[in-house]
Amino acid sequence: MTNEGEITILVADDNPDRLELMCVLLRKAGYQVFAASDGREAFEVACRERPLLVISDVMMPHVDGIQLCRMLRAHPELSITRTLLVSAMRVDDSSAVEGLEAGADDYLEAPYDPMRLIAKVARLAERARFEAALRESEERYALAAQGANDGLWDWNLRTGEVYFSARWKAMLGWAEDEVGASVEEWFGRVHPEDVEALRESIHAHVAGHSAHLELEHRMRHRDGTYRWMLSRGIVVRDAEGRAARMAGSQSDINERKRIEEQLLHDAFHDALTGLPNRALFTDRLGQAVERSRRHEDYHFAVIFLDLDRFKTVNDSLGHTVGDHLLIEVSRRLESCTRGEDTAARIGGDEFTILLEDVKDPADVLRTAERIQVCLARPFDLCGHEVFTSASLGIALSASHYERPEDILRAANTAMHKAKALGKGRHQVFDAAMHSDAVSFLRIETDMQRAAEREEFRVQYQPIISLETGRAIGFEALVRWQHPERGLIYPKEFISVAEETGMISRIDRWVLREACRQTARWHGCWSQRPSISVNLSAKSFLQPDLVEYVRQVLEETRLSPGCLKLEITESVLMSDISSVNSLITRLRALGVGLYLDDFGTGYSSLSYLHRFPLTALKIDRSFISRIALGGEHVEIARAIVTLAHSLSLEAISEGIEEEEQLVELRSLGCEYGQGHLFAKPLDSAQAEALIKGSPGASFVPRREAGLGAA
Ligand code: C2E
Ligand code: MG
Ligand code: MG
Repeated sequence: MTNEGEITILVADDNPDRLELMCVLLRKAGYQVFAASDGREAFEVACRERPLLVISDVMMPHVDGIQLCRMLRAHPELSITRTLLVSAMRVDDSSAVEGLEAGADDYLEAPYDPMRLIAKVARLAERARFEAALRESEERYALAAQGANDGLWDWNLRTGEVYFSARWKAMLGWAEDEVGASVEEWFGRVHPEDVEALRESIHAHVAGHSAHLELEHRMRHRDGTYRWMLSRGIVVRDAEGRAARMAGSQSDINERKRIEEQLLHDAFHDALTGLPNRALFTDRLGQAVERSRRHEDYHFAVIFLDLDRFKTVNDSLGHTVGDHLLIEVSRRLESCTRGEDTAARIGGDEFTILLEDVKDPADVLRTAERIQVCLARPFDLCGHEVFTSASLGIALSASHYERPEDILRAANTAMHKAKALGKGRHQVFDAAMHSDAVSFLRIETDMQRAAEREEFRVQYQPIISLETGRAIGFEALVRWQHPERGLIYPKEFISVAEETGMISRIDRWVLREACRQTARWHGCWSQRPSISVNLSAKSFLQPDLVEYVRQVLEETRLSPGCLKLEITESVLMSDISSVNSLITRLRALGVGLYLDDFGTGYSSLSYLHRFPLTALKIDRSFISRIALGGEHVEIARAIVTLAHSLSLEAISEGIEEEEQLVELRSLGCEYGQGHLFAKPLDSAQAEALIKGSPGASFVPRREAGLGAA
């Protein structure tokens, strides 16, 4: 609260130097200034002090300036408070617009000179003061009316007797004759956590240390709930100056408190799942780091969790189902953790868990396992049964992290490692991973040069007719011959290339190279193997893809019927009609289309018949689990049957065992590839294979001796 006529300004800035500078400047100009070093503190001070003007930095940790504006605007009792956003660096117009939309009254961008700042402040403060005066005269009437709403009390300090008005009692749910006249009737209802503060405030005032009693505290209602009240009072002294009586009022401020708490809650929780958000998580993590620094035997751990294939669920079943999945995952995470732990959602499908007071690292691993088991149960979402898994990265406090960001980054790196190792698993961070992460980053830069330096290679894996045992073609698989790291497999760089957009360049190069090589083989031998080329969704959806394919075929003179393009289910789900027309145009050129890794995505079977595809490739995960007569034979059988009912051919990926071959042959699966026949070969080895099977009859590798390739 302020003295009349004095203009109060709250300054929020996370940079201590700037904060200090601004406070000095404003105090010199005659204002009463409060300072806050972040948005959260600023909101608390604003609720307490009701400044006429808030000057806030735009970029601050936890609650930033724009968020702060929104919170101030939403607060019913801060409606006359004006806000001025200042930015420490030059920012784009959109953030100014965002600030104004959030309720800021003005915006000042760096570099700002003190004179301009003071001029703006003066203008805004004047406006606020005018509105406050207007509001005050309106409020006088409102207050008079509300006075009737407040409860009154009058305490005889000599006899200890207290008079409570009927309204005072009714506010707490009691009738006139149900509350006695002892001070216990009051103090006995004060929340145990607030009672000490109330006693102290009263003592301070009676002792003459404060002008009046004023305290917000909770009171127990008859129904057992606690409600926020504001108690105000003043002591009445006798001729000798001794405190004789104390009298005052009690106002119900529960609604205002509820709104304040709600606003604070919203700033620190994720709106969709209700879990703590990144700001709150980082805050708690910071406290844990502090605690572990002070107490040697206090340990904590962070689990970083990322859902596997969340994007596929979102793309194929829609955002509503995706949202429900996130909510349901949140509930399960809460059920897997203890009350003192913090589970937070810090991004799209990214969750973090802070495990406090860890006695034994094995407990952390057990929690990670429990989470995985818990998430493996099917989700029933709007009538869809969805399965998901998560990759978990774990960082333990024993490694002595300086800052919360460091431990989060470590857990994140471990999560990526878990993902790379095949999803649905967890991984503990170790120092070697740090250097892995660095080299991962290096891949991104190296890859830019790899194309120019012609470091990419193509290997060819034979595709075999299961009926005749003859190789009918090859799948082109890209490799990267790195000058220092040796041969790098697609698993390590395709996803990076997809993120950076390099993938189209790589895919087009592979397409041209594979077509050129295959056409050369056609020219030399009587056999005419086909060639399958993988295309990422990004490459496939390029507007000029059909034209590019046509050009390559023309240039290399490869017969279009010998080219097959492999796409994945995610492509089909992106935009049905345009994908359909793309596939139709490619088919019109004579090119075949394979649906790769079938069974791992969420493509809707009811759409499948709409696309003029050529074949389904059954994902290796189904083949590898085929044991004679086992459950996975049934899945493979279902996919083969599905393919045939859509007039498509079936190709099995990753055949490694003789018995898998026997089963697949008996299911009527037409083609297969896998280590049982041959690993991917370089062009010379592939050539030897074609030459070496003049009768075009191809035998499994153990007899042909090609296994070492
Ligand atoms: P994919 O298209 O499903 O290719 C099959 C993968 O399975 C290949 O891995 C192949 O080496 C491997 N494989 C084949 N038979 C067996 C077997 O019997 N056992 C086992 N364990 N593995 C087998 P690779 O070459 O590492 O490629 C991985 C993935 O990278 C490919 O999966 C494909 O999605 C992608 N990829 C490869 N080349 C390209 C490319 O030029 N462009 C794009 N966009 N993606 C590519
Ligand atoms: Mg493939
Ligand atoms: Mg595949």
